[in-house]
Amino acid sequence: MSILFISKADSPTEWQQALASLDPEIGFQVWPDSRKPEDIEAALVWKHPPGALLGLPNLKLIQSLGAGVDHIFMDPRLPKNVPIARLVDSELTRQMVEYVVLAVLSRHRRLDLIRGAQLLRDWQVIPPVPISCSRVGILGFGEIGRATGNSLVNLGFKVASWTRTPHTVGAVTSYHGPEGFTSLLEKSDILICLLPLTAKTRGLLNAEAFATLPTDAYVINVARGAHLIEQDLLAAIDNGHLSGAWLDVFDAEPLPSNHPFWAHPKIVVTPHLAGLTVASSAASQVVHNLQLVRIGKPPQNLVDPTVGY
Ligand code: NDP
Repeated sequence: MSILFISKADSPTEWQQALASLDPEIGFQVWPDSRKPEDIEAALVWKHPPGALLGLPNLKLIQSLGAGVDHIFMDPRLPKNVPIARLVDSELTRQMVEYVVLAVLSRHRRLDLIRGAQLLRDWQVIPPVPISCSRVGILGFGEIGRATGNSLVNLGFKVASWTRTPHTVGAVTSYHGPEGFTSLLEKSDILICLLPLTAKTRGLLNAEAFATLPTDAYVINVARGAHLIEQDLLAAIDNGHLSGAWLDVFDAEPLPSNHPFWAHPKIVVTPHLAGLTVASSAASQVVHNLQLVRIGKPPQNLVDPTVGY
């Protein structure tokens, strides 16, 4: 029996080796060269072409190669009643925490101003602001949001979170639901988006949300490009309400070379690299999920299709 691998972003060789090192019995077929559809028990996917998961009579698991599953739900011809699992991986989470802490600290210590002065050969002391002036709001407090929040709390930041369902988390002020969204925005000097992309979260970072943020607030989006209305962000920065943004994800990826974000002095652009799945770290979860579905149990990190994450 086999796993079907469909991804242009991940290395099939690395995945095949990582899976074989854990279970040499697992067959490995790479789309579109797969030859034995009846052998396929699990599909390991990242942005698979619509319809590619049809015609697999023994498919028991659709496993995302990343933490998000929005790419799976984009397929209008997804097979029905096959469990979908997302990756929760300590290495991926660690990379995400590292990246977001980098962005928060760069903003908090005003690395942009320091670097600007350096380029002018200007010995300008830009004094650190009190940490109380950098209140952090995190949209989405799941695996990655929580780990990020904990690290920022440990650094001394005042952190608030926003979730769909109510949570109580130690040192973090928790908000949920539509009313909670406004309350969180009003108190966020640095806003971090770590939401899954769903019908309810698409376009949340828009002109109204930006206007609700305090003057001079800073936006960090590491979730998905479609959470953010790009023109609204540009307008809010260019009219002086927001001080800038740090973006890893975009509506169109790769970001077109003529896109205004590239050269904007107040926007940091990185090419969707905040957290990259490492096969050697994540493969054990895939093997474990395969074992679970083979005995009729739900996989770990099962996605609820009714909420989209
Ligand atoms: P989780 O599923 O663990 O957490 C999702 C969080 O979002 C939960 O707290 C959930 O609330 C909240 N949420 C979902 N819908 C809503 C809503 N409508 N209103 C308010 N809150 C909501 O996800 P992860 O932390 O593992 O990952 C988050 C996202 O990060 C991924 O979906 C992916 O898009 C992105 N990502 C980006 C990467 C990059 O390289 N840029 C790499 C990895 C991930 P509740 O707790 O109530 O369920």
